[in-house]
Amino acid sequence: MKVTTRRNFFKQVFFYTSAGALTHLLVNSEAFAAEPMLIDMTGLKRKDAANKGCVTTAKSIGYVEDLAAAIKDPAAAKKASPSYMPHTDKAGHKAATQTCDTCMFYNYKKATPAQPTCMLIPACLVHAKGTCNSWAAKT
Ligand code: SF4
Repeated sequence: MKVTTRRNFFKQVFFYTSAGALTHLLVNSEAFAAEPMLIDMTGLKRKDAANKGCVTTAKSIGYVEDLAAAIKDPAAAKKASPSYMPHTDKAGHKAATQTCDTCMFYNYKKATPAQPTCMLIPACLVHAKGTCNSWAAKT
C-alpha cells in the first residue's frame, strides 16, 4: 500500500486544483477563442464547420461577396446566394454604395480600425465590398 504523507497530499491537491484552474482559464479565455475568418461562399477554400454555418446564414439573408459583380450579373449572384435581391437606391444611398462597409451592422464590435465583422454573420468576417438584403445605412 502506498503511503501518502500529508505534504505529498497537499502537493497533489495543489497540482490538480492548479491544473484545473489553468485549463478553465485557457478554455474560457478570449485569447484562445477561435478568431473569425473570412467567409468563403463557394466552400472551395474553406471546408470547416464554421464556414458552413456562416454560408447557411449568409444565404438566408442573400449575402454576396461582391456587390459590384452582383449588379453586373444578378443571375450569377442569385445562383450563388438564392435569396439575393438586387438593391435599389434608398434615400440618399445609391444601390452601388450599399456595401458591407457602409452598413450599420458592419464592424459591430466597434473596433478601430474597423474590422469586417457583421452582426448578422458573427462567426465569420465578411467582404467589405459584399452586401446582403439586410443592408441598412449607418446612422
Ligand atoms: S454588414 Fe450589412 S450588408 Fe454586409 S452582410 Fe452584414 S448585414 Fe449584410
